[in-house]
Amino acid sequence: MTHMTMKELKNAVIKTAVDCAADLVGFAPASRFDKQDPLFAIFPQAKTVICLAFRILRGYLRGIEEGTTYYQYTTMSVENLEEVMMPSGALRVAQLLEEEGFKALPQKRQRLIINENSDITNPEMQPGDIVRGLDKEPQLDFIDSAVKCGIGEKSFHGQLLTDDFGPLQRIIFVITDAELEPDPVSEPHLCDNCGECVKACPGHCIDEKGMTDSWRCAVYYKGGAGVKNPFMRPDDFFSEKDRLELIAGEAEITPERARDLLRKIYFYPPIRHSYVTSICGRACDTACYVHLEEQGKLKRSFKQKFRRRPVWKFDISDFDVIGDERK
Ligand code: SF4
Ligand code: SF4
Repeated sequence: MTHMTMKELKNAVIKTAVDCAADLVGFAPASRFDKQDPLFAIFPQAKTVICLAFRILRGYLRGIEEGTTYYQYTTMSVENLEEVMMPSGALRVAQLLEEEGFKALPQKRQRLIINENSDITNPEMQPGDIVRGLDKEPQLDFIDSAVKCGIGEKSFHGQLLTDDFGPLQRIIFVITDAELEPDPVSEPHLCDNCGECVKACPGHCIDEKGMTDSWRCAVYYKGGAGVKNPFMRPDDFFSEKDRLELIAGEAEITPERARDLLRKIYFYPPIRHSYVTSICGRACDTACYVHLEEQGKLKRSFKQKFRRRPVWKFDISDFDVIGDERK
């Protein structure tokens, strides 16, 4: 059987990924990774890391922007991408590499495993379903690896930003022993440290250094902020002494308290693979996207700007009235 040249193979990898709905494809040589990187624990003979990025449709975020539909973002732009589209694309690329005589190992982010000793959580997942203590299984640093593949840059708030979609994409990798031509790492040029991501979070979960408090984020991602939650019932959080501060996104939240609060709010049942519906609508990323669009930094243009009117907010004084009546 005759095999492709390496140039042909790279082009075929890109075509296969794009045919499977990937929007961006980038290639990093293994030499860009430190010898201690999990990459070599996963696949010691690795020669190339391939990143596939799939856009998050801005239409899904418009539903949350308008306050009309929330469930669609999580089912289609989180679960469907992570559990269906992205693994399918990575599998097809890996099959192609195997057909050409190489080994290939798809790397899907394991969202339900958290390192045993770290007290963080994954706000996208139902916290009770997250497994701790399985940190013997190495995982790539997804954002760092995508940057090495030339896909984009790391933002102030720790997300991946690309010229095409800003912060609105999800990523998966294929590691292979095929030595494919690398793409250049791009010089950071999108994030200007404007702080819009910090200001937009209804739960004040991102600090002035850009670090996100993941337990706090879990509470507000799932709808803890009454100012941005059309589903909050008048007596939600009624037993909390600092209820109004909590609903306003200003209460102190420890990891223990976050676990307790998350058991008390259930605006949507978790979706099949333990994903929880984003009621905050990833306001941090949306604000970043709006900022990059306003700055004219994104390659893809649309007939209308994403943000068409000032961001809406509920008046939470109603919660105060009901609380007083029940004292
Ligand atoms: S909102 Fe501003 S500071 Fe935050 S990531 Fe985007 S560009 Fe950077
Ligand atoms: S806007 Fe949402 S996703 Fe972003 S930090 Fe705040 S709660 Fe978390």
